[in-house]
Amino acid sequence: MADLEVIQGGAVLIEGERIVDVGPYARIRASAPDAEEVEVDGVLFPGFVDAHTHAVFGKPRLDDHARRARGMDYKAIAAEGGGILSSVQDTRARSEGALVEVTGRRLRHLLAQGTTTVEVKSGYGLETATELRQLAAIGALAKGPPALVATFLGAHEVPLEYRGRRSDYVRLLIEEMLPAVARQGIARFCDVFCEPGVFTPEESRAVLEAARGHGLDLKIHADELDGSGGAELAAALGAVSADHLACASAQGIAALAASETVAVLLPGTMLFLGRADRAPARALIDAGGAVALATDFNPGSSPGVSLPLMATLGVSQLRMAPAEVVNAITVNGAAAILEAKSRGQLAPGFRADVVLAAVRDWRELVYWYGGSLVRQVWVAGAACHPVGGTINFLA
Ligand SMILES: [Zn+2]
Repeated sequence: MADLEVIQGGAVLIEGERIVDVGPYARIRASAPDAEEVEVDGVLFPGFVDAHTHAVFGKPRLDDHARRARGMDYKAIAAEGGGILSSVQDTRARSEGALVEVTGRRLRHLLAQGTTTVEVKSGYGLETATELRQLAAIGALAKGPPALVATFLGAHEVPLEYRGRRSDYVRLLIEEMLPAVARQGIARFCDVFCEPGVFTPEESRAVLEAARGHGLDLKIHADELDGSGGAELAAALGAVSADHLACASAQGIAALAASETVAVLLPGTMLFLGRADRAPARALIDAGGAVALATDFNPGSSPGVSLPLMATLGVSQLRMAPAEVVNAITVNGAAAILEAKSRGQLAPGFRADVVLAAVRDWRELVYWYGGSLVRQVWVAGAACHPVGGTINFLA
């Protein structure tokens, strides 16, 4: 993960949507004398890949933020009508068109920070129609920019109307929602919030095995706020990614490191929630695991849009090397959504997703924080100046 190739005075040759060649300017120029030239001043990175977001939502959860500052925990906030279920109530009341409109504007913020591909989950419906509507909204925006990949997260929480009969909700997920999602072909992955008080490892396994039966690849919210056995489950099931992991056990870390599963770590969530737990990035990497960093962009626990900020936190909070965090928001972010062969690298054959940062030394990308160093973004070969009047967070 610490292997990063830096070319001084380099050039990227793009044809259509693809990168054709990368190397020293003189050689690239000589190989393509007729190519149109765009001169840039700074460092070019592969477009960043955000492998974990919940970007389809309406209102921000401003009261939850203040409640946490007063010392209220997750359960106390939910008891006052906040938490995930307040976003569920809000999302159920919005049409597909309204969800597309608000989500599209917010995704421009991620693009302005250099993110060219975003994984987006459903999970604020918790009923078939709204889950499908969220996935349809993701589908409507999938071409981008930024490009999206959709994950079905009906198992994000047990909705109020199923409290006291949770097995009926698991049955609804398996017998109604998953077949409908598969029939419409509107999700690539299925995810489950495996956490004490949410879904048990046994319930998570049942949902994920059913999802695999429908041809979906697997992700797990694992060991976020408490040890859940989620890391072990992700390794055992061969999930594409295990996400969060701040409270993963030593056995879970060892199992993940020995597996093909990518650990997607979300340091912005721990920062925003004010928690001291740290995901075991160093232990995972030192044991041979693959680590990606993502924003977890969502209205409750991480309303953050910047992958470069997550990379800064990767160094300062998770003790990752600068080269490791750059790989974690590019190559490994792509691996966490099964796009490692097409995105996340400036290399021949890859999609021409390119970010220009106004820095001299590439390490400055993860050093200056709190502002944006991104000056230009190309998505699939097309320049898209992302900063403009259409960007806002209005609900
Ligand atoms: Zn999440």
